[in-house]
Amino acid sequence: MITIITDKINTLNQISYNNFLQNIEMHQLSCFCGLSGCLIKHGYYTRSIKTSHGIIQLSILRVKCKHCGKTHAIFPALIVPYSRVLLNTHLSIITAYISKSSFEPIMMANEYIDESNIKYIIRQFLRHWKECIASFRFSVFDSPDILSKQCLNTFKRQFMQIKCTANILFC
Ligand SMILES: [Zn+2]
Repeated sequence: MITIITDKINTLNQISYNNFLQNIEMHQLSCFCGLSGCLIKHGYYTRSIKTSHGIIQLSILRVKCKHCGKTHAIFPALIVPYSRVLLNTHLSIITAYISKSSFEPIMMANEYIDESNIKYIIRQFLRHWKECIASFRFSVFDSPDILSKQCLNTFKRQFMQIKCTANILFC
């Protein structure tokens, strides 16, 4: 997968995702094999994602490397791969947990986030990410873009991405 930091998406939906795709210089993207300019559109797959505007079905672009044959999904940095919950929501939950504040506003803002989602996210954070980011002095109180960049550069994973599929950062 390839994650791209973008300030072009305010509200994630198919239209903003498609606009984001249109702004990508596809020939500049590079593959794990080290080559750039070799990625071609390979199709779309659907993901369901919980946003503050409800659950959306997003068609996500997959590209394929002409050189090594590997395929990559293209994500804006506000998506956490394999999760239906957006990066901002993950961060709201984790920062509320650390600062011992209420989860109520998060559930109010996003009607599809419930207590079990929150518990799950905190458990995953404690199990997989807390020490990782602490050892590099990364902070969940930094901006999501900074944290994404740090985690993608250092761990080859988006913050809170649990599966270890390598994730390339493209700025
Ligand atoms: Zn390749």
